[in-house]
Amino acid sequence: MKAQVLLPKIFNFSFTYNSNNIPLKIGDFVEVPFGKNKEIGVIWKNKNIKLKDIKIKNIGQKIKDYSIDQNLINFVEWFAIYNMVPLGLALKMTIGNKDNYTKKIDSNFNKIKKKKKKYKLNNEQKKAFEYLDLVKDKFDVSVLQGTTGSGKTLVYFERIKKVINKNKQALVLLPEIFLTNEFKSRFEDFFGYEPAIWHSKITPKNKRIIWNGIIENKIKLVVGARSALLLPFKKLGIIVVDEEHDTSYKQDEGVIYNARDMAISRASFEKIPIHLVTSIPSIETYNNIQNKKFRHVKITKRFNDYPLPKAKIVNLNINKIKDKFISSETISYVNEFLNKKEQVLFFINRRGYAPYLICKKCGFKLICSNCSMYLTFHKKKNKAVCHHCSLEKKVKNKCKEEGDCDFIMYGPGVEKIFEEIKKIFPNNKTEIFSSDYMQKKKQTDEIFKKINNNEVDILIGTQMISKGFNFPKLNCVVVVDADFSGRGYDLRTTEKNIQLYHQLSGRAGRFSSESLIIYQTLTPEDSTLNELIKDKSEELLKKELITRKKNHLPPFVRLIAIIISSNQHDLSIKGAKEIKVQLKKISNIEVLGPVDSPLLKVKKKFRSRLLLRFSSGVLVQKKITNLLNSLKISSKIKLTVDVDPVNFS
Ligand SMILES: [Zn+2]
Ligand SMILES: [Zn+2]
Repeated sequence: MKAQVLLPKIFNFSFTYNSNNIPLKIGDFVEVPFGKNKEIGVIWKNKNIKLKDIKIKNIGQKIKDYSIDQNLINFVEWFAIYNMVPLGLALKMTIGNKDNYTKKIDSNFNKIKKKKKKYKLNNEQKKAFEYLDLVKDKFDVSVLQGTTGSGKTLVYFERIKKVINKNKQALVLLPEIFLTNEFKSRFEDFFGYEPAIWHSKITPKNKRIIWNGIIENKIKLVVGARSALLLPFKKLGIIVVDEEHDTSYKQDEGVIYNARDMAISRASFEKIPIHLVTSIPSIETYNNIQNKKFRHVKITKRFNDYPLPKAKIVNLNINKIKDKFISSETISYVNEFLNKKEQVLFFINRRGYAPYLICKKCGFKLICSNCSMYLTFHKKKNKAVCHHCSLEKKVKNKCKEEGDCDFIMYGPGVEKIFEEIKKIFPNNKTEIFSSDYMQKKKQTDEIFKKINNNEVDILIGTQMISKGFNFPKLNCVVVVDADFSGRGYDLRTTEKNIQLYHQLSGRAGRFSSESLIIYQTLTPEDSTLNELIKDKSEELLKKELITRKKNHLPPFVRLIAIIISSNQHDLSIKGAKEIKVQLKKISNIEVLGPVDSPLLKVKKKFRSRLLLRFSSGVLVQKKITNLLNSLKISSKIKLTVDVDPVNFS
């Protein structure tokens, strides 16, 4: 008997072996000779492969007690085809490291029992729960929408509890790893035990324990980041994608895929329900709600019935205030909250001190030598840093004959705002909340503790702070620079802004009826901003959909980006042109480009882009993959394929 074995390696096909009279079924793990080594692979579907007259080796042995089932095999195949990833690499994401199934480990998890707290759903939550609970044991996508603080988590916890009680497994996806700490304690209060947390940074030992617990159906509930999506659940009963609108679900490096969309596919292959949870849905999800492809339920009240903050626009006329970024109008609002001993958050979405450094004598600009990017000055490090490749440079340059350049720093970064705030409010306790300052978990925990104990009056934070945190005394948010101009690299600028500012305003007034969000801006008349403050986010999404339709953009068409990179600019362009000629042979796709990437050079590589456009509803990936595989591509260029691209930089 012949058997097909797929190895967790870069190949897009399985290998043929003799079964060696071992009874085998699809999904079994086997050890096989491969080159000079022994490898472990999985018995794969027999796809009527014509065998060439070559010497076929014997399978070594079956790995006892390990197998994956047909639903997962089908999903892995789909994942590979859709995302144009080698099949073996998709399998690798499922079965992981060899140690998982060769080293014995005690996979008993959830030993630590905690005391459960009692929860009771309010009426709206109860109705939402009943609506979600209508569809059981079959594929169904439903959206649970509710403003920040409306208690959505409790609703889906109840759903999960019901599924687990039937001896099935549940998967909760979260967009960010650092979110899981706060989530963990809420989880423990509800379920009475510790959840299995899965992301790329857990220790190899924990990975082994959790992976084994999952494949044996001993672990019932996994909370994880993107990579949890392909885990080998034995009896998956439900998937929840929390903060479904978050663009972190798009994996942009290595194997490129969108974890939210793939979660929907997995639910479909497993024939189980999936809940997408959000405060404002992503544009695709919104479109699918409108089309009635997804069911939809909304919680309108915040849990304790506190209203969302009031909003104010403050005109930030830069000429008047020169190098100051906090206006006097803002200061007087902020003082009202500080006098009441309440917390204020200043939000600025730029790390570092100043985004541009320019010599005022000769005009020299500090640019990264690897990327076409300005370097951002970081005062803490006293260096200029590239936010793309992390290159650090001393702020120094020879000016024309007269010695060193005299740099001025344009624009505000979080560090500069921190300095300004400390000068304006010298008697208040101020903390900075940015990834550069919170590299270690301990630092993050300490800041959280301080905030919750009310030992912080003013917080200054970057994007990181807009997500899922719950600060009871925070009642005023100041957006230092509300910028709706966009830079054209990103299809989602408008959508992202709607999401971001909605989330930010949700951070304020969780436990107060008097809260405020201030938008400082150079463009106070901007129509998006003005609708946003009237809490018309959904109307903005509706408008955005109309624009997308008019401009032939997703979700009305599909896009695939092909990035051709090389050490030499002429080679990346030449390569892109040659590939375009070939791609044009495929019917029903439009090939746009090549163009230079807006960020032409990243990490020493020049990048040219092709964009493929085709109507939604067709699957052209297989044809494109076959074509690309048949091309002889110069070793001097590298191809990266991004299906459903989000970022165009
Ligand atoms: Zn760089
Ligand atoms: Zn100079």
